[in-house]
Amino acid sequence: MTIKGKVAIITGASSGIGYATALALSKAGAKVAAGARRTDRLESLQSEIAKNGGEVFIQRLDVTKKQECDAFVDAVIKKWGTVDILINNAGLMPLSFFKNLKVDEWDRMIDVNIKGVLYCTAAVITHMINKKSGHIINISSVAGRTVFPAGSVYCATKHAVVAFSEGLRQEVSQRANIRVTCIEPGVVATELLNTITDKSLEKYVQTTKQQEAQQLQSEDIANAILFAVQAPDHVSVNEILIRPTTQE
Ligand code: NDP
Repeated sequence: MTIKGKVAIITGASSGIGYATALALSKAGAKVAAGARRTDRLESLQSEIAKNGGEVFIQRLDVTKKQECDAFVDAVIKKWGTVDILINNAGLMPLSFFKNLKVDEWDRMIDVNIKGVLYCTAAVITHMINKKSGHIINISSVAGRTVFPAGSVYCATKHAVVAFSEGLRQEVSQRANIRVTCIEPGVVATELLNTITDKSLEKYVQTTKQQEAQQLQSEDIANAILFAVQAPDHVSVNEILIRPTTQE
């Protein structure tokens, strides 16, 4: 199914998966609304999309602030009249061993990875229910399926995204014709590792960065998202788990 002319909101579109997804959706003909805190990066995205002849809207968005999520969606509806697709992508992964008690980082992960998803979904859901169509895509992780040391809190947030996606699907699929997709990437070469501050993980971070060539690229995840949004209306792709071939 074509997404030409569809309106898609992407959170965390200033780098990595969000940036690549914004470009991919725009190339497929969607109007793209991109939000994140780093507006200089959003401006680069805007230029790139505009250069390709696409339609783009950017606005600073901190997904931990409910008012900003509401204002973002309102601005998009004012500009283009509707929202067809929401991609809840913003996230961070400051892995740390629990005993190191990085409470501030736990709070930020819970605020961005869970509450940000809820706030942005809340901002579009009434509109989608009223028009009886829409597609919500949540970016969870392999960490939403498995758990590993130093990842207890991150994995908890990504498990929450999986649970929320399925709960939301049960509430809005049959009743409101809304599709919900949860994407669960393995390791993707992005800036995500830069959020790690736990000194005992320095070696892990370095080794992972050195293995970049074997990892997924942001475009691989963008392609998975495209597959879900381009499926015919009666097809709801609920979950996609996607790992680099060499990941255990
Ligand atoms: P990046 O660090 O490149 O991107 C993260 C994005 O989230 C940035 O655009 C950042 O924008 C945004 N963000 C962070 N905090 C906020 C906030 N408060 N409000 C709005 N935007 C915010 O990493 P990825 O592209 O890898 O991450 C994207 C998603 O993919 C995340 O949810 C991550 O957990 C998930 N994921 C990534 C994997 C990987 O291996 N890379 C594997 C599995 C899942 P800014 O700082 O400008 O606000």
